[in-house]
Amino acid sequence: MNRISWHQYFMAQSHLLALRSTCTRLTVGATIVRDKRIIAGGYNGSIAGGVHCIDEGCYVIDNHCVRTIHAEMNALLQCAKFGVPTAGAEIYVTHFPCLQCCKSIIQAGIKAVYYAEDYKNHPYAIELFEQSGVKTEHVPYQPILRTEDTDLAEKQSLVLDMLEELEELHIDEEKLQVFKEKSEQLFKL
Ligand SMILES: [Zn+2]
Ligand SMILES: [Zn+2]
Repeated sequence: MNRISWHQYFMAQSHLLALRSTCTRLTVGATIVRDKRIIAGGYNGSIAGGVHCIDEGCYVIDNHCVRTIHAEMNALLQCAKFGVPTAGAEIYVTHFPCLQCCKSIIQAGIKAVYYAEDYKNHPYAIELFEQSGVKTEHVPYQPILRTEDTDLAEKQSLVLDMLEELEELHIDEEKLQVFKEKSEQLFKL
């Protein structure tokens, strides 16, 4: 049995959180971790109870959506709200943090930033992280969530039956071939 690594485990959590983002401009997730424990998480979204970009459209000023609070900030603010120390913690983010989030991350005492994707990596953000001794590391996300296809055998036999039926109906040879190839790919026959 292959156990998922800590890096991938926390990165998966951030990608799961990103699916809750309410702004379509960028779906981002952030997970704050201390001593290998998840202490907070956030995604790119409106203030609690506010309208969502996905419902009302973005509120864009100077080419930026100003409605949402970034995932990293939401995660840090969750710690503030519930009185959870962030000093010495680490953060896992789907995208390299923007300059504003970079400053907040440093100021909150986070000591490492693991990011899955580069995102307009601001030179000043990189400089500030280095200057503050905050480690940044690129950790590409390898999706691990596999859903067990319990009815696979039945689906496969249904498709094979249908292909047989099509063959008997003498449909266009080329079309039949396309269906056969697609089925082969899908079921790795
Ligand atoms: Zn928006
Ligand atoms: Zn940000």
